[in-house]
Amino acid sequence: MLPSVKIMQISSELASQTISKYVVGEALWRKGIDHNPHQLFIDAWATGVWTRQYGLISYKAIAEVLSLIAENKAEALAVEQRSSNLWLVDSAQGNGKYFVMRSGKYLSCSCPKFRCWQKRLGKECPQLLQALGGVFCHHTFAIQKQLK
Ligand SMILES: [Zn+2]
Repeated sequence: MLPSVKIMQISSELASQTISKYVVGEALWRKGIDHNPHQLFIDAWATGVWTRQYGLISYKAIAEVLSLIAENKAEALAVEQRSSNLWLVDSAQGNGKYFVMRSGKYLSCSCPKFRCWQKRLGKECPQLLQALGGVFCHHTFAIQKQLK
């Protein structure tokens, strides 16, 4: 390992929502790299996500996978508008609903993933937050699609 490389201190809560083996594995597939997701060894560096076996994956590539996952999950979600700035959105697991609120151009959601990203991304991995272009979840994506 290069001595100048900074390792990011990412909590397991945030890591499981962002740089999980599944997400990193998807980024590798998109690069055409065949691999066994179960054997991936992942470290979050300041410059990207380091996989011991396959080298560095940029936060941009990770952000693209996270956007695609949110987009796919948003497809089938039932949405109910409650007021001009408030929606109820089904959870992807179908076991509840979350509130999506609009304030100006900004959408926020009451789900655990959104709150985790909002609380932790900027502090623990600002590089990924920048690559994502802001905090989102599949619920805010579902509303965004309707607002277009
Ligand atoms: Zn949400």
